[in-house]
Amino acid sequence: MASENVPLVDLRAQYLALKPEIMAAFEEVLEGMQLFIGPRQKAFEQEFATYCGCQYSVGNASGTNALELALRACDIGPGDEVITVSNTFIATVEAIALVGAIPVFVDIDPETYLMDWRQLESVLTPRTRAIVPVHLYGHPVEMQPVMDFARAHGLRVIEDASQAHGATYQGQRVGSFGDVGCFSLYFSKNLGAFGEAGICTTNNADLAEKMRMYRDHGSRVRYLHEVIGSNARMDELQAAVLLIKMPHLERWNAARQAHAQTYTEQLRDVVDAVPVVRDWGSHVYCYYVIQIPQRDQFRAALQEEGIGTNIHYPTPLHLQPACAQYGYKAGMLPVTEALASQIVSLPMYPELTEKQLQHVINTVKKYASSLASNR
Ligand SMILES: *Cc1c(COP(=O)(O)O)cnc(C)c1O
Repeated sequence: MASENVPLVDLRAQYLALKPEIMAAFEEVLEGMQLFIGPRQKAFEQEFATYCGCQYSVGNASGTNALELALRACDIGPGDEVITVSNTFIATVEAIALVGAIPVFVDIDPETYLMDWRQLESVLTPRTRAIVPVHLYGHPVEMQPVMDFARAHGLRVIEDASQAHGATYQGQRVGSFGDVGCFSLYFSKNLGAFGEAGICTTNNADLAEKMRMYRDHGSRVRYLHEVIGSNARMDELQAAVLLIKMPHLERWNAARQAHAQTYTEQLRDVVDAVPVVRDWGSHVYCYYVIQIPQRDQFRAALQEEGIGTNIHYPTPLHLQPACAQYGYKAGMLPVTEALASQIVSLPMYPELTEKQLQHVINTVKKYASSLASNR
């Protein structure tokens, strides 16, 4: 059998499908030369806000920027503590640190791998100002108890929805629960530009106004700088790509869900864990993450068969050199730490073919049975 190459993600497929439309839009943007805060960004902001069930959205230059703008707009700053998780991409913590605040980690639910809200109480201090739940891998955090806790203690909630465009909790889209929802639109996310971009969603007009000001050098009127802001504007060429891709997001998410269902049906009894989907939520599978014994061997075996894998993420943030200043030690977040040595992400993108899926599944099965026979 000719072996099928299956990359972890295939970004060319979407480009090729939309190439004529994208090229035409690029030409129009370049002819008009309105390269920032242009009509396409405004149209995209409108569509994305509506999609998320929010009144406002503020396009910007990256998911990291989105988080930083949101925290700043919520007046989170030096000395403030922000509760989040260690099982996430570094940007979640970078944004907290960039505004001068201190990340405080809680452990995760061993089944969903997401923030365990039951632990919020144990890290609450008089300096706690906000919670950043992360809808990691595409599954929503259980938002109701998080929101209840935040309201009871006067805390802001900033959702990191960078891996969960379109995911729902109790039928409502993520990014619409907290004070602000933050999305990366980095090229490999569920909705991605051809480079860097991000967006914030909110129902709070005042926060939206502040985030618009912060993204553009602290000004609403050109050369009048009301506060010290930043340069975090969305590039109009990226907005053009996003506006073209936006109508396809639902279909792409549905394709991811169909692939995930195939993986789960066929691998449930073969690997140590397949992704869990809570009955109160929908999963959009930015990543399809399993647990498997002897992970490094597993990855090498798949590599041999032309199958790409990755680990999201190999070292929890609280054990990263960059976070040493916060004083965490190995053993302090046992669920997060144990998980990090067992997880692997399998190839996942909307354009995966049936043949590619079967090749991955067969290879995983072959590996699992070789493990069993070696015991
Ligand atoms: C990708 C990502 C970010 C950062 O987004 P960038 O656009 O790369 O800055 C933040 N949080 C999570 C969970 C992410 O996956």
